[in-house]
This record gives sequence, C-alpha cells and structure tokens, in this order.
Amino acid sequence: MDLREFIDIVGKDNVLTDKVDVIPYTKDASFFTGKIPYAVLLPQNVNQVSSIMRICQRDDIQVTVRGGGSSLTGSSILAEEGVILSMARFDRILETAIEDRYVVAEAGVKLDYLNSHLSKYGHFYPPDPASSIAATVGGSISTNAGGLRAAMYGATKEWVLGLEVVLPDGTIIQTGGKVLKRSIGYDLTALMVGSEGTLGVITKAILKIAPLPESYGRIMVYYKSIEEAGRAISSLKKRGITPLIAEFMDRISMDSITHTKGIKFPEDAQYLLLIDISSTHESLDKKLNEAAEILKSTDILGMRITKDPEEMAVMYQARKGLYSSQLSEREKPGEYVIIGDIVVPASRLPKTLSEIKGSIENYGLKVALFGHIGDGNIHANIFADVNNSEQMKRVNDFMMELGRIALRNEGSVSSEHGIGIEKIELLKEEYRYKNSLKNLDIMREIKKIFDPKNILNRGKMF
Ligand SMILES: Cc1cc2nc3c(=O)[nH]c(=O)nc-3n(C[C@H](O)[C@H](O)[C@H](O)COP(=O)(O)OP(=O)(O)OC[C@H]3O[C@@H](n4cnc5c(N)ncnc54)[C@H](O)[C@@H]3O)c2cc1C
Repeated sequence: MDLREFIDIVGKDNVLTDKVDVIPYTKDASFFTGKIPYAVLLPQNVNQVSSIMRICQRDDIQVTVRGGGSSLTGSSILAEEGVILSMARFDRILETAIEDRYVVAEAGVKLDYLNSHLSKYGHFYPPDPASSIAATVGGSISTNAGGLRAAMYGATKEWVLGLEVVLPDGTIIQTGGKVLKRSIGYDLTALMVGSEGTLGVITKAILKIAPLPESYGRIMVYYKSIEEAGRAISSLKKRGITPLIAEFMDRISMDSITHTKGIKFPEDAQYLLLIDISSTHESLDKKLNEAAEILKSTDILGMRITKDPEEMAVMYQARKGLYSSQLSEREKPGEYVIIGDIVVPASRLPKTLSEIKGSIENYGLKVALFGHIGDGNIHANIFADVNNSEQMKRVNDFMMELGRIALRNEGSVSSEHGIGIEKIELLKEEYRYKNSLKNLDIMREIKKIFDPKNILNRGKMF
C-alpha cells in the first residue's frame, strides 16, 4: 500500500509499518485476533485526522480507531485489512472549569490520568472502568463504559456534554457544548456515545465533572447463597440506599485475588459483596450502620466494616485487577478468559443469579461470576481454550443463554463492553426478543449517513 500521502500528513515517525510495531495492534483485550494493519497512523491534531480520513474515504481504506486497546469484544482490532488510527498523541487536558463543572480533554487521555489531574481540584470524572489505567476518554465514550462507580453515577453517557468529531469524509463537527442542558434537536453527542468507532473519530470531549465524595466507608459482606447476595442489593435499593460502589464476586474470583495479591477471605464464603457508602463526615457512621443493618437482615456468613483508607485502596485495586488475577485460575496456560456482560434491574438480581448458576452447570464450563452488581451488571468469565472447537461451541451457546436470561429478566445482553465482533448475534437476539428488529435497520441507515462507504470499523456491531 502506498503510504506516502499519510507520511506527508503526520511525518515518517508517526506511520508505523514494521512488523514488530504493528503486530501488537492485531490484539485488544478480547480473545480475537485482527488483521495485520497496513500501517498504524499516529496523528497529532484534528486537521491531520481530517486529512487522513479524506484519503481513506477516497481510496476505500478501512480504518479502526484505537484508544487504549482494552476492548473486551474485539472492537479495537481490524476485522478487515486496513489501517489503525491511534489516538495516543491526543493526550492533553485542555481546560479545567471547576465553577462550570466541566473538563475538556483530548480523546487519547487515559482516565486515571484525567482523574489524578482532577483530584488536585477536589473533583473527579465518575466513569471508572476497571481498565481505567489504559482506557481513554475516546474509547470509553465509544463503548459507553460503566465501571465501579456507575452504581451511583451512571455510565459514561451521563457525563458527556460535547464532542469534536471527524467524520469519514474529513468534515470536523462540534456537538453539544459547555452547558449542562440544551434542547436543540437530535442529540448527536448521545448518538456518538457507544458508537464503537463506526460513525466518526472523536478527537476531543467536554466532560461533566463532580466534587469528590467527602468521605466513604466500606462493608464487606459474605454469603453462601448467590440468591441472597442478589437480594442484599435489591434490599438496599428498596430502602433508598444507593451505594457509591457495590461489587460482587464468587469463590473463584476471591481465590484468584488470594493467589495473586495475598489477600485472604473467609474459607466458607462462596460470595462477597463489597459495598462502599459515601456521605459527609458527620453522617458517614449513621449511613454505614443503616446499610449494615439492612444487610444483616439477609442470610450472611460474616461482615466487616472499615473506613481505613489504605485497606480500602488495596481492595479497590485488587477488584480493578480482578480480570488479570483470574488468569491465575486457568487450568492450562493457553486458556483465555472470555467475558460475559449482562445487566438486569436490581429487583431481578436474585432470580437472574440463580438462573445463571444453574445454566453454568448445564454447559459444563468453568465460569467465574462477578460484576458491578450495584447497577445490576453481572460478568460471567468463562475459562476456555479457543482452539478447542467443541468447548468453544459450548462457550458460544452459554453466552447466548446468558443473554436470554438477561432478556427474560428485563435486562440487556450487553451492559458496558459494547458489541464489537463478539456480541453481533446477541445484539440481534435482543432486538428480536423485543420484536424491534427495525431498530437494527435504523442503526444501519444512520451508519450509511455518517459513513456511506463503510470505512469505519467494518465488521463490528452489525
Ligand atoms: C481488565 C479490564 C477491565 C475492564 N473493566 C471494564 C469496566 O469495569 N467497565 C467497562 O465499561 N469496561 C471495562 N473494560 C472494557 C474496556 O476497557 C472499556 O470499554 C474501555 O472504555 C475502552 O477504552 P479504550 O480506550 O481501551 O478503547 P479501545 O479498546 O481502544 O476502543 C474501544 C472502541 O472504541 C473505539 N474508539 C476508541 N477511541 C475512539 C475515538 N477517539 N473515536 C472513535 N472511536 C474510538 C474503537 O474503535 C473501539 O470500537 C475492561 C477491560 C479490561 C481489559
């Protein structure tokens, strides 16, 4: 492929073509392997992105935009031959407006970096996927990332005020802006959220921010029964308590943390809920006690309450690193951990969790259950050898069943990881179940308006 025009735009050093440089871009955090890119392009400003896109549209070159590459569904690798457009050089925070409660950041800014910057002002950007060390502003907007604090603050879509986007024909548009509300027709900012790099390239975002919670404490509560763990969350919510975070994990997950981080859990515990309650300094104890009393009314094995910042930070990081820790529980080193990601309303958690448990037994798979249960999000991590076709068929069937369990319980087949390559069938299943396959036609029409030559992330979502 002739790369001279790209070199003219971004400079030779920003066009990677050596095998050693481009092979890493055939992988993201999913089990899929993408096509080897013709080149990885590293533009440094919006005009360069615009010029690149104009050439790609003219010459029909496939483009996959890449943020941190932490996608779990294969959305940041090439499904067809083309180029990777890396946003790595878009790493600046451009404006911090505490009085107006927003921050303007380039798309390649990592979420942890953004939050460490905002913490100096006593503020934070709430979306907090466990991958926040790698996940970028643009990537997390494109997948509508959720994460730990979505229990209280909702997913990314609640926090995006405006965007700068380069369309496939090179046009640069601004959507939304710096105000908290507006009413000016179709919401193109919202349309971009969760669009998985299929409509345009996000180069800059105006993000809502919030003051850091004054104080918080943690309740760790252990269960024997999965249903009771689910009931605990619905009981808290029924009594008007919204935790800052509410995480759930099973015994495989706890063991993996013990093996990798040395943190021990009670031997008889099958399930753990890790619940953070935030409040003012004055009322924190009262709120923690209120929540603890509600939890004690469920069938618990034990409980620990702590306000020790160090202890809470260690366990928070262990939870964020859980996916990596789980790799220690593989039976063979070549096994992958494939992630299921469903969501149901809180009231449906007890029934959903027990249905999932039953289903795991039916498919004869090793599955670790955990998730951001505070907002109804359950992950089912399947240990599988991707070269074993018989096992992969069972994995696929289980994934479909997991999705159907979510749908029967009024939830969704994808909570926060998006569709990518992995969940194309599940997306159809959701709309089929809702008798709304027309939604997919509408989405395809929207895609055509933005990207008539289908050069952006072909082979994803549809
Ligand atoms: C260990 C681990 C834990 C995780 N935990 C969570 C979690 O708790 N919650 C959660 O929601 N997700 C989680 N994820 C999934 C993933 O990290 C998130 O979806 C993350 O937000 C993706 O960000 P990224 O920058 O890595 O995007 P990438 O993987 O690079 O890209 C994701 C998608 O966005 C598109 N994209 C990227 N940048 C842009 C841009 N500037 N413009 C247009 N499109 C773009 C890509 O083309 C792709 O379709 C986890 C992943 C891992 C590996």
